[in-house]
Amino acid sequence: MILEMGPILRGETNRIDFEYFLTPVPLDRITFESDAHVVGFVTDNAGYMRLCATASLAYSAECDRCLEPVKSEYVLQFERTVADEGTLTDEQLEDNIDEYVVIENARLDIDEQLTEALLLEFPRKILCSEDCEGLCPKCGKILKYGPCSCPTKEIDPRLAVLAQLLDKDEE
Ligand SMILES: [Zn+2]
Ligand SMILES: [Zn+2]
Repeated sequence: MILEMGPILRGETNRIDFEYFLTPVPLDRITFESDAHVVGFVTDNAGYMRLCATASLAYSAECDRCLEPVKSEYVLQFERTVADEGTLTDEQLEDNIDEYVVIENARLDIDEQLTEALLLEFPRKILCSEDCEGLCPKCGKILKYGPCSCPTKEIDPRLAVLAQLLDKDEE
């Protein structure tokens, strides 16, 4: 979306609200249920302009551990300082590229930066729940539905080392 910044730059208002849908970049193994719903505003506080937006994105995927379907919503908070073109040096911009959005010809286009932020900050690990125990490595049963009947008596690797040491002592 392109925001017309004229009214703020001319001092006619100190707040512009906006709302729109942004198509996210496709991600492997993730199905987006719809485009990202973006709601936000730009405020002008005596020349200091700030952009705040929230992008919500409903998605479905498979749990990384148990492969069960997961439906969830990802919410990104996006905040930047708004600078009019020519008010920042190239150096300032390059050093703080993640802090600014820049007005060009009295227009502000945040789609590129917002799309990038969505991509970068989207969770890398999708889990049906934080404590998902995944699948039994032996029988493949989904452990959140209850334990399987595989023998559970595994020797703790630390104890195994200890046992070896004890064996040595006995030799
Ligand atoms: Zn799971
Ligand atoms: Zn099992």
